[in-house]
Amino acid sequence: MFPVASQMEPERLQSQKPETGNWKLQPVKWHTDVVPRSLAREQDILKRSSPKRPPRLTSRRIGIHTSSAGGVQNAAERAYRLGCNTFQIFSSSPRQWAAHDLSRPDCDAMKKLRDKYDLKPLVIHTNYLVNLAGANELFLKKSVETFRGEIERALALCAEYLVLHPGSFRGSDREQGLMRTTAAIATAAQGLDLAKPGLTILIENTAGAEYSLGGSFEQVAEVLEYLRNLVPVGACIDTCHTHVAGYDIASPQGMQDTLKRLDETVGLKNVRVWHCNDAKAARGSKLDRHQHIGKGSIGLQLFRHLLNDPRLAHAAFIAETPIDQPGDDGRNVAALRKLAKK
Ligand SMILES: [Zn+2]
Ligand SMILES: [Zn+2]
Repeated sequence: MFPVASQMEPERLQSQKPETGNWKLQPVKWHTDVVPRSLAREQDILKRSSPKRPPRLTSRRIGIHTSSAGGVQNAAERAYRLGCNTFQIFSSSPRQWAAHDLSRPDCDAMKKLRDKYDLKPLVIHTNYLVNLAGANELFLKKSVETFRGEIERALALCAEYLVLHPGSFRGSDREQGLMRTTAAIATAAQGLDLAKPGLTILIENTAGAEYSLGGSFEQVAEVLEYLRNLVPVGACIDTCHTHVAGYDIASPQGMQDTLKRLDETVGLKNVRVWHCNDAKAARGSKLDRHQHIGKGSIGLQLFRHLLNDPRLAHAAFIAETPIDQPGDDGRNVAALRKLAKK
């Protein structure tokens, strides 16, 4: 059985306000933008009639993090209706340890819809609670078990990518955290064949908060280096995290320099997914607050560049933008699609 709707999308359904004071104490999370419950219901694209024509083809794979409410296969239908040709989901509740097994029929239905709509790659984002760099032994053990479940579900869903934040090393030092996270990933994947079905684990860069690993391209590259011979790995680069971590990606020259630095460390070919999020906070602020495409402190220019740079043509571009008004998800997908030349 699959988790029920209310468990599936806390980041969309919860009506709590983003914390300000103690945000550093929260476990890994990639955004805190939330909308009231009623709004989330009202805007569900599945409640509207199906589009008459398929979306126009784009030269790039463009999508958005999509709700799995009502069953995982619903995410594929929603993604298609939102104009996506790739998408990201959670395969279980992002803020609960306990995960339910995916049912075979649900996985089959997902596969069928993805084939029908040519939706690829499928990206799965790991549960927020998982911290593979932590010093607390019990918590680490739970994280490894949970991450193994993430890998198993990603395999069951025939996903191409599983995105993971490298974790927080609070309570120890960075080097130890790095060693723990790489060992934990390898342990979680032990005995599972990822290569044959084509599943790759992607290490995501983070906003660079005090104890978090992955705030620099060098740190992401280091994790990849350690794991290269153990599991299939690549990187997911989040534009909002890059910006608030201090990289200049908003000015034309800064963008070029930052991409050059990314290429020299992680390698552009290893960046399989770009999380396309504008930022509410200033460059270098370390505050992870996602904003609508073109409406934040990064601006449209970066996204236009990323979507048309031939060196990045192999990557998928996925928004994790907030939903403040009904239809914001569709509008952000449309904004990205508009920037990609045919
Ligand atoms: Zn984020
Ligand atoms: Zn992200």
